[in-house]
Amino acid sequence: MEGKENECNQQHSVLVSVDRGALVMKYIIDDRKYHFKSAFDTETGAYVRTGILDENGRDTGVDPFMASFPHLIDVGVMGHCIHGRTGLCVKAGIGCYQSGLLVEQPNMTVEHFRWIAEQCKGRCNQLALGGRGDPDQHECFEDLLRISRENNLVPNFTTSGYGMTPELAVLCKKYCGAVAVSWYRSEYTLNAIQMLLSAGVKTNIHYVLGRNSIDEAIDRLERNAFPAGINAVIFLLHKPAGQGSKANVLDFDDPRVAQFFAQVDRQHPFKVGMDSCNVPGALNYCRNILPESLDTCEGGRYSCYIGADMVMVPCSFDQQKRYEVQLSEETTIENAWNSDPFVRFRDKMRAACPNCEKRALCMGGCPLMPEIVFCGSEKRTIPTEIEKEKSL
Ligand code: SF4
Ligand code: SF4
Repeated sequence: MEGKENECNQQHSVLVSVDRGALVMKYIIDDRKYHFKSAFDTETGAYVRTGILDENGRDTGVDPFMASFPHLIDVGVMGHCIHGRTGLCVKAGIGCYQSGLLVEQPNMTVEHFRWIAEQCKGRCNQLALGGRGDPDQHECFEDLLRISRENNLVPNFTTSGYGMTPELAVLCKKYCGAVAVSWYRSEYTLNAIQMLLSAGVKTNIHYVLGRNSIDEAIDRLERNAFPAGINAVIFLLHKPAGQGSKANVLDFDDPRVAQFFAQVDRQHPFKVGMDSCNVPGALNYCRNILPESLDTCEGGRYSCYIGADMVMVPCSFDQQKRYEVQLSEETTIENAWNSDPFVRFRDKMRAACPNCEKRALCMGGCPLMPEIVFCGSEKRTIPTEIEKEKSL
């Protein structure tokens, strides 16, 4: 039954070639349920989607709201964090949203990881390995990377760099699309970046943007002061989840936010990216970014998170598990994707800010934490949870 359902929803064309000895694939997924096509290049990571296609296969120009199966899954393979337990995150001013200093749980088993990967084969493009800790410190790290590739899924991950070694960097080169090192401003951050670059890995920096770090971000962007050779700096918005404090959340009307986006709008010797949580800010402040290149919150629409405990939520920042589904032999990823909690999550985006002209691109921003949305428009409607909180 499950197989037939899948065949109805999606059809895949795969173009396989060999480039310098490596298998390169370009996928086209024909999403028959939501009437669009998407393409993914396993070599470059390039990902494009058509608009909704009409009955003659012509693009209507309307962005499809969601896919029939996630295109990217954030797989929280780590249940505990060696780096976090040392207190180095706190020292660096990073409030871990997974509470890595305080919570210690088992890592995901290889069997569970394989179960996920096998369901994703040909339907999902990438697995972002993560969770509470550095995936390169998982006891079966190489197995996880190998299983991803065996199932035609490109593995990527973010690390503090604390335990990176030249040997691990070689594994990353063999299997990963890209590796991101979190910007902890320490010697091990810079060493890990150099190890990855020396191994030929596409290396990004993940920079958490909050009240306490925005001055440095503006200054470094002004001076292009990030290590030479990196592919991109990706700015991740600080969120009040886990150990992340409310006090560090940036306000829309903080003048430094406009200065920051003015820097994002400029050319740099490296690419500058941001998480989809920043999209309302980019829409409201940037002039040189192609709107077509922006994708607002993809949680529950094109991506989701599965933790080491096999609980699936639309986004890893749902730390209160308001939209959780426990995966099991009976409850597959596809079942969870179509479950009531995921429908409730999406309904928030569908209903957001009906009178705003930017609605199609922004959808009201984050459905979990409205306080992180960079928007001061009077057309904005604030989701009900926050209104309830305010009235208490
Ligand atoms: S739910 Fe919020 S935190 Fe998660 S991806 Fe969307 S905007 Fe970002
Ligand atoms: S009013 Fe809503 S949809 Fe419009 S830019 Fe603001 S948050 Fe986004």
